[in-house]
Amino acid sequence: MKACVFTLGCKMNEVESASLMRGLEERGYEVTDELGFADLYLLNTCAVTAEAERKSRQAVARMRKFNPGAPVIVCGCASEQNAEAFLEKEGVSLVLGAQNKGKVLDVLEKRGIFNETEQNFCELPAPKQTKTRAFLRIQDGCNRFCSYCLIPYLRGRTRSRSAESVLAEAERCGAKEIVLTGIDVSSYRDGDVGLGELLLLLKNVPARVRLGSLEEGIVDEKFLAQMKEAGNVAPHFHLSLQSGSSAVLKAMNRRYTREEYLDCCRKIYQFFPEAAITTDIIVGFPDETEEDFQESLSIIGEAGFARVHCFPFSSRPGTAAAKKKDLPAEVKRERMARIMTAAKRAETAYISRFLGTERTVLFEEDGGYSENYLRVYADGAKEGMLARVKLTELFRDGAKGQIQFQQGG
Ligand code: SF4
Repeated sequence: MKACVFTLGCKMNEVESASLMRGLEERGYEVTDELGFADLYLLNTCAVTAEAERKSRQAVARMRKFNPGAPVIVCGCASEQNAEAFLEKEGVSLVLGAQNKGKVLDVLEKRGIFNETEQNFCELPAPKQTKTRAFLRIQDGCNRFCSYCLIPYLRGRTRSRSAESVLAEAERCGAKEIVLTGIDVSSYRDGDVGLGELLLLLKNVPARVRLGSLEEGIVDEKFLAQMKEAGNVAPHFHLSLQSGSSAVLKAMNRRYTREEYLDCCRKIYQFFPEAAITTDIIVGFPDETEEDFQESLSIIGEAGFARVHCFPFSSRPGTAAAKKKDLPAEVKRERMARIMTAAKRAETAYISRFLGTERTVLFEEDGGYSENYLRVYADGAKEGMLARVKLTELFRDGAKGQIQFQQGG
C-alpha cells in the first residue's frame, strides 16, 4: 500500500508531515511526499496567504486525478480555517484541522471523525529526516495574537514538549545539526525550564543546535549568556521584525518598538560579534505610509541583517487587520521591489565581511550552512560533511570556498 503525504506551507508543517510519514511507514505503508498515484492521500495544508489556501484546495483535485478511488485526509491550517471548502470536495474522507495532527494516525486506524480540541503538546513519532540536519519540535501554538495572523486561532494556545522528551529525541536522532522548531519557540517552558535552560540541557548532545524563529522579548543578557555557556548553539538569530516603524508595529500588536528591537540586536552583537540576525518583514500593512515604509528600509542596514524575508501583506479574514482597508496592489508591489533590493544589499554586505575567513560548514545536498548561517559551496563537499572552509568569493546566494580540513566523522 502506498501513501502520499503532501505538504504546503511552513517548516512546522514539513516537520509534522515527516513525523506522519514515519508513522505511516511503521504501519507498513510505502510513503512518498510527491504527488502521484497512491492508495491513501494525506494533505497537510497552509493558510498563511489566500494563495496558499487556494493551492491547498487545488491539491485535492490533483490527488483525485491520480487515484479517484483513494481516500483523501486533510489536515493543517487551511482546513482549520475553512473546513467546509474541503468537505464539499469529492473524495475527501476526513478533515482534521490544525490542532489534531498528533491524532491523525489514530483516526486512520479507527476510521472515525475526530473533532476533539487537543491543548496538550502532541507527541508525534520522530520525523523521517537525514542524519545531517534534524528539525526537532519543541513547542506548538501561540498566545501573541499579532493583528494580521490567524495562527493562534488555528493552532491554539502555546504548549511545550517536555524537556525530557526533547533531550531524548536530540540524543536519539544522531544528526549533526538540530534545529529547535515551533510556532513560538521563545515561549518554550517546561516547569522551571525555559528556552535558555533547555539549551543548557542540550549542551552535551554531539550536534550543532540552531534556534528556530525567535521573538525579541526572549533576548536578554541571561538568555545570551546561557546560549554562550551551552557552547554548541549556532550564533544565528531569526528575530521576526515585521516592520521598522513603531506605529506599524503597534498596529500589528507586536509589543516592541523600533528602538527596542535595535537594542536587542546590539545586545546580540555584544555577545556574538559575528552573529547572523535574519528576519521577516511585512510590506504594505494597512495604513503603512511611505514614511513608515522608509523606516522598514532603513532598519535593514542599521540592524545589519544577514538575510531578510519580505512578504507583501495578505489580509486574512477573521483577524483584526482584515477589518482595515488594504493598500492598493501596485503600492505593495513597488515597495516589495525596493525592499528586496535593500535586503539583497544587506545580505551581500554580510557575506562579504567573511570572505577570506574560515567557517565551519555542515554540507547538505547542494552547499551547506556555516554556524552563522552563510550559505557556502565548495568543490569536493559531500552531504553530511562537516568541514572548515576558507571563503574565497561571492557565489549564488552565498559564498564559494575551499575545504581546509574535515571535522568529526
Ligand atoms: S507570533 Fe504573531 S505572527 Fe507569529 S504565530 Fe504568533 S500571532 Fe502569528
